[in-house]
Order: sequence, then structure tokens, then C-alpha cells
Amino acid sequence: MTAFAKTPRNRVKRLPERAAYDAETIYKILDEALICHVGIAQDNQPFVIPTIHARRGDTLLLHGATTSRLLKHIQAGNPICVTTTLLDGLVVARGIFHNSMNYRSVVLFGVGRVLDDPQAKYDALLALTERVMPGRWDDARLPNKKELKATTIIEMPIESATAKMRVGGPKDDAEDYEKDWWAGVIPIEQKFLAPQPDPKLYKEIPVPRYLKNYTR
Ligand SMILES: Cc1cc2nc3c(=O)[nH]c(=O)nc-3n(C[C@H](O)[C@H](O)[C@H](O)COP(=O)(O)OP(=O)(O)OC[C@H]3O[C@@H](n4cnc5c(N)ncnc54)[C@H](O)[C@@H]3O)c2cc1C
Repeated sequence: MTAFAKTPRNRVKRLPERAAYDAETIYKILDEALICHVGIAQDNQPFVIPTIHARRGDTLLLHGATTSRLLKHIQAGNPICVTTTLLDGLVVARGIFHNSMNYRSVVLFGVGRVLDDPQAKYDALLALTERVMPGRWDDARLPNKKELKATTIIEMPIESATAKMRVGGPKDDAEDYEKDWWAGVIPIEQKFLAPQPDPKLYKEIPVPRYLKNYTR
């Protein structure tokens, strides 16, 4: 996939100059985000549920308990909408109306299907684990049969998608620029702190190299 077609469903109407439809931009945001929110409509009631995701090519992977309402709903073939946002800054404008945030967000649409094959489930769990914690799969106990059985894996081919981004400083009304109110941007950076050992470690075990200085 190189770019997603603009359709009535994904075309950004409000501030379309902030939109991007190319897969490279969309996937970069999706891959950097640690979590997403999945939206479903059930009996005329929308639900939006946060969860972990991974991307494999043009496919999104989700997982959870077999008892999960969200996953059962997706399993039944209902369409879903997935979104995630990276916050880059608080935009402080001279006019309250123009306060804003710098961000990179994506919205995806698709229909999920369940992966039943044990090897496919295993591979999906590997992808989900390695995306969040690269190096961990080979340095922990792997899921057993019971755990695999208790886990539903959803694979959603990404049918349609959009990115929307805001960058830069405040955009104030012309007459407000020569006033004494400070204006600008407070940048936001996601920071991971030093790993804290589980007090239940049965002996002193050094923090693995792949977890030290964790960053995204
Ligand atoms: C951190 C953050 C804060 C925001 N705060 C506000 C706010 O306070 N008020 C406000 O009105 N808007 C805010 N927005 C923008 C908001 O996400 C919508 O883009 C905007 O409200 C227009 O909504 P709409 O339904 O009219 O979009 P439309 O342009 O009609 O949406 C059409 C299609 O465009 C795509 N799309 C729309 N918005 C996004 C998006 N953000 N990311 C990716 N694809 C998108 C979707 O595919 C959607 O189906 C914020 C966005 C972010 C990320």
C-alpha cells in the first residue's frame, strides 16, 4: 500500500491541509504510538476502548481475552474505527479561541477477522510483544497452550486511513499580535525513566540491555 484513496469516510473536511493519506506517514504515526483506541457501535451505542496494537504490513493486529466484548464484536464481522494520537506540543495563543495542540493522529477503518491457527496466533503475539518491547520475546517464558487459548487475536486489513497533523506556533488574529500576552509552544516529549526492578525478583538480575534506555 502506498496511499489510501480519499473517500467520503476518510476525507478530512475540516482543515484538509493538515491531512495526509500516504501509508508511510500514517504507518509511522501508528508504529510510534504505544496504544490505540478502537471504536465500535453496538445497539446504537458507540464504545471507544483503549488497547495495544501492532502493525504487520497493511494489517493491524489487536489481542485480548476471549471474553472481551470488544473482540467478540469485531469477531462477528462488524466494522471498526481505530485511532491514535501523538502529542507534540501545547500551542499557547494570544486569543483563547486560538489555543491549540500540535499533534500527529491517525484514523483507520476496517473489518477484523480472528486468527485461529495456533502458529498464526503465536506469530501475532510475537509481533505485539516485540513492537512494544523489542528483544523481550526471546528473554521471557513464552505463552503456553492455555494462555494461547484464552487469547483472541484479531487481524484487521487496513481498508482506509488518514493522518492529520498540526505543527508550528499559534495562529492569532492580526490585531492581537501587538499585545503583551506571551504566546508560543510548549513542546511535549515522551520520556521513559530508568527501569524499576520488581521487588519480587528472586535475586539481583541485571536490567537487560534492550530495556535500558528504552525509547521510541
Ligand atoms: C490532540 C488533538 C486535539 C484536538 N482538539 C480539538 C478540539 O478541541 N476541537 C476540535 O473541533 N477538534 C480538535 N481536534 C481535531 C479533531 O480530531 C478533528 O479533526 C476535528 O474536530 C474535525 O472533526 P470532524 O469530524 O469535523 O472531521 P472531518 O474532517 O469531517 O473528518 C472526516 C474524516 O477525516 C479523518 N480525520 C478527522 N480528524 C482526524 C484526525 N484528528 N486524525 C486523523 N484523521 C482524522 C477521519 O478519517 C474522518 O472520518 C483535535 C485533534 C487532536 C489530535
